[in-house]
Amino acid sequence: MQLGVLSGKVAVVTASTKGIGLAIARRLARDGAQVMISSRKQDSVDQALGQLLAEGLSVSGTVCHVGKNKDQELLVNETLRRHGRIDILVSNAATNPFIGRILDCPEEVWDKTFEVNVKAPFLLTKLVVPHMELQGGGSIVLVGSVAGYRPFPTIGVYSISKTALLGLTKLLADELAPANIRVNGIAPGLIKTQFSAFLWSDDNSRQRFEKIISMRRFGEPEECAGTVSFLCSQDATYITGETIAMSGGFHCRL
Ligand code: NAP
Repeated sequence: MQLGVLSGKVAVVTASTKGIGLAIARRLARDGAQVMISSRKQDSVDQALGQLLAEGLSVSGTVCHVGKNKDQELLVNETLRRHGRIDILVSNAATNPFIGRILDCPEEVWDKTFEVNVKAPFLLTKLVVPHMELQGGGSIVLVGSVAGYRPFPTIGVYSISKTALLGLTKLLADELAPANIRVNGIAPGLIKTQFSAFLWSDDNSRQRFEKIISMRRFGEPEECAGTVSFLCSQDATYITGETIAMSGGFHCRL
């Protein structure tokens, strides 16, 4: 039997019970990794675990709200207890609590958005790095967005938080390169999930957005997952500090 490209690796994926995170977890597991899935609700974790285990994949799961330090510690400790190591971290969780003009956005929304979308990936990285260092290396992928390159007017603070992730990716990549830890990002375009339902659930809005995508369609979560597997694989050993967009041709560069 041929071994998968991530065989022997242990991966932690946040917000991985639905959407893009679930597709990434499934893909990493199909490529041979043992994967720890997580999200805020026990029900969601149980449901996703049920699906992945039924597919014969090597996965376990725990509750982790990335905005809670205790949950982050639990995620790391549970992964080490069950799988013995951490080779891959995919930080996928994000929140977008406000839709409207940025000038109308309350201060609490700024705080919550930056807490979950920027500070949490940083703190989780801090928690896994010592283990990766001891093991001689690792790979971290931060899930950003095309909105980080080109802010969407009605989701301004969310967009800016994703711009911040581009900087975080570069800086962490630089600091962690001597430890053989690579840090990269992905920037999904408009992907059909619950998170983006406000963009595609009514026909008028969906058609309006399809017009600005070269491929004239929303992407599927699975179309983000292969790139993450690639970035964590032996084929990407000289790639760090990069963010790769999967946007169907939607223009997205700073
Ligand atoms: P989704 O389908 O709505 O799934 C969200 C997942 O996140 C669920 O598993 C949810 O489970 C979990 N979750 C939500 N808040 C969490 C928190 N604070 N801590 C831990 N888990 C949490 O969302 P998605 O579209 O896949 O989005 C995933 C990532 O892709 C986000 O970083 C988003 O910014 C990025 N992205 C999405 C799009 C798009 O068009 N969909 C485009 C660009 C970037 P629970 O409810 O159990 O917590």
